[in-house]
Amino acid sequence: MFERIAILGAGLIGASIALAARESGAARAVIMFDRDPDVRNRAHALGLGEIADSAEAAVAGAELVVLAMPVGAMVEAMAAIGPALAPGAIVTDVGSVKRSVAEALAPLAPPHAFLIPGHPIAGTEHSGPEAGFASLFKGRWHILTPLADARPEYAAAVEKLAAFWCALGANVEQMTPARHDVVLAVTSHLPHLIAFNIVAMAEDLESVTESEVVKYSASGFRDFTRIAASDPTMWRDVFLHNRDAVLEVLGRFSEDLAALQRAIRWGEGDALYDLFDRARRMRREVIEAGQDTPTPNWGRDEPQ
Ligand code: NAP
Repeated sequence: MFERIAILGAGLIGASIALAARESGAARAVIMFDRDPDVRNRAHALGLGEIADSAEAAVAGAELVVLAMPVGAMVEAMAAIGPALAPGAIVTDVGSVKRSVAEALAPLAPPHAFLIPGHPIAGTEHSGPEAGFASLFKGRWHILTPLADARPEYAAAVEKLAAFWCALGANVEQMTPARHDVVLAVTSHLPHLIAFNIVAMAEDLESVTESEVVKYSASGFRDFTRIAASDPTMWRDVFLHNRDAVLEVLGRFSEDLAALQRAIRWGEGDALYDLFDRARRMRREVIEAGQDTPTPNWGRDEPQ
């Protein structure tokens, strides 16, 4: 599909794209660059692809360029590679926020390239090149948020990029950046915020309870610790760049939490039951949509 692709950022997502692109045959040559020399060495040792010494060298001659670094680093990276992009190059990203990133990157894309922002709805709590694996995108959604670009070549580039992600095993959907940011605020950003908050709070209480939080964590808390183990740089950037959508959803969450608090205080069992019952049904829908396994407790055999 592509003779040569460049991936900037050799972490979990960049490494997974490199492995999946080669395994699927979607790219003949993969050139990677990471700003951290140690990560570059590790990516080389893992055989992820050819490792370039600079972002400019990596993108030279590449038909597809993927920005796979934290959202806060993308503007500087785009400014650096702009002049080095090949005519007709497609530039995409994998950032977890779309509107502010697309608005900032668009003016930096040279007229002879096609900027098509995107976001794979796939990941883990692990970081770095060793965390990457080829099947990460299989059966997951990939959201593209194309710019309002009327060139027929732009539409063809969007088709080609969509076909690339399909070759990696993803299902591709298009959305406006604003819609993406609200949907992801609900499904990803707020859950991560809650996990970071509850785990940090428990860490404070840990001293009070003399290690009992960790000891009895299998009762629910440990599932929050998995989400809260995600990369702090990535998540700092997500909240700084998706501020409006997150604050909107957080406002609604806080109101509903206050209502729950009142229901507990006044012993309103029916209200609690109705909400828990409604919430439980969502789990079935997630499983039916193929986005998780029905295996109890994710296949762990310990008691819940
Ligand atoms: P990661 O494992 O932490 O890897 C990111 C790598 O990019 C790091 O090695 C980082 O180096 C490097 N980097 C930073 N600035 C750079 C630059 N200017 N040029 C080249 N490399 C640079 O992160 P990740 O989980 O792969 O996330 C990458 C992107 O994917 C983020 O935008 C994130 O929002 C998005 N995403 C993540 C997930 C997920 O579950 N993790 C899912 C979907 C999308 P330093 O360590 O030196 O900064």
